[in-house]
Amino acid sequence: MSKIWTRNNQQIKEECLSMTPIISIILTSYNKPNTIGKAIESVLDQTYQNWELFIMDDNSNEETVKIIKQYINKPRIYYFNSNIQDSERYKTTRYATLINEAIPKTRGKYLTYLTDDNSFLPSRFKSMLKVLNQNPSIEIVYSQQLVKTINEYGIVEQEKVRKTYGVLKNPVGWVDHCSIMHTRYLAERIFNEFGSYWNDDQAYWYNGDAAFWSRLTKYKPFHPIPEILDIAIKDDKSFQRLYTHLPKCIPNGTLVRGPSSETYIIENQVRRKISKEVFTKLKYDPSMVVKIPDPFLYKYKEGTPVDSQVFINFLLFPNQRLVKAHNNPAVYYLQNKYKHLIKNEKTFSDFNFSWDKIISTHEHLLAQLPDGLPIEELSESTPILPDGTLFKHENYYISLKNCLHPIEKQVAMKLKLPVTNPVKMDHSLLSKFKTGEPFEWEILF
Ligand code: UDP
Ligand code: MG
Repeated sequence: MSKIWTRNNQQIKEECLSMTPIISIILTSYNKPNTIGKAIESVLDQTYQNWELFIMDDNSNEETVKIIKQYINKPRIYYFNSNIQDSERYKTTRYATLINEAIPKTRGKYLTYLTDDNSFLPSRFKSMLKVLNQNPSIEIVYSQQLVKTINEYGIVEQEKVRKTYGVLKNPVGWVDHCSIMHTRYLAERIFNEFGSYWNDDQAYWYNGDAAFWSRLTKYKPFHPIPEILDIAIKDDKSFQRLYTHLPKCIPNGTLVRGPSSETYIIENQVRRKISKEVFTKLKYDPSMVVKIPDPFLYKYKEGTPVDSQVFINFLLFPNQRLVKAHNNPAVYYLQNKYKHLIKNEKTFSDFNFSWDKIISTHEHLLAQLPDGLPIEELSESTPILPDGTLFKHENYYISLKNCLHPIEKQVAMKLKLPVTNPVKMDHSLLSKFKTGEPFEWEILF
């Protein structure tokens, strides 16, 4: 990459050495009203006080902003709101974008990062500065972290210590976002070489810190401070937890929910909000709802809601449902706006359909949908596979539009597909159908 940035390393070094305050903290925030106050307080409570704090809020809800506002008139605290639109949220790794916006505003000789679900111990700055100031050749320090996992009721379920492992040339996977401090000089060198500080490509949502660590270690290793200096809280809304094993593209027919209480169905790659009363009428099961992070929910445009209208206009009825008319035993499976007759009881059990999921409705409503090919017993001559069914032949596959898409077991589990009870198929059936794009979970690094 060409170095088009104008200041040379010597000039940057001189600027950096003359800087006050000494430590700039970049706190990224998004909708964590229960912990953001503690994060801010943990900076105020430091035994070393020559710092400045940049609160970079990513357009949080009112509850969160209200808490932040209690602190923004204090000296050395600066507050910025990104005003990001939800529909734009998934496009970059947001915390990396916020950090990149913050760094040019900061003045500290050292930079350190805090997230809204973490808090520093009071001695953190003092301990880190001691090592950095006494050893000019050390430009990055990292410390131990206490990780508290809490359940949905706020009770601590597990406590673990992320240890230090000596001097690290490859800290990826070992060191958290909130456990390091480094010189501004290194950040500026990175900017000179890469044209940005943190890599905010959306591919790094899961581990943007690791992407930055690999830039940092091109210049200097990470030096350990074997003391716990920060506490991380992982709850059921934690991005890491919600994102783990989520494929890039969510299969049609999946029920999803962001951290708010609304439930959606993904259909034709748009999200349709399902009203509470219709959720029950459509025989959806709350245990089938996949919790996903906000930025990933908003990636899907909002489509026509699934509300009481679907019982008036059947063309709005969601796919992948079993329906029958009152007083008529014929059962249909809906897919792609067609109704497919399920041939017989054997077919029904071959595909693991369940009787208690059949929705009974008026004959005239059902008549609004055209007939598709019937779904027949599972054999080599089966003309059509029901969408959203989990199959297994050595590996797992999910059927969509008569294609079998390979799906990793953990991805299938994440999507609440019945991995312990898939439809078993043999090689000849597998080879009869086209194989589609796989559903995979991919992390870089
Ligand atoms: N974040 C953000 N915008 C978003 C989602 C998250 O700025 O749309 C920030 C969040 O405030 C936090 C960081 O990204 O500072 C990491 O998110 P989180 O703590 O949920 O993830 P985890 O702890 O699981 O890595
Ligand atoms: Mg976090």
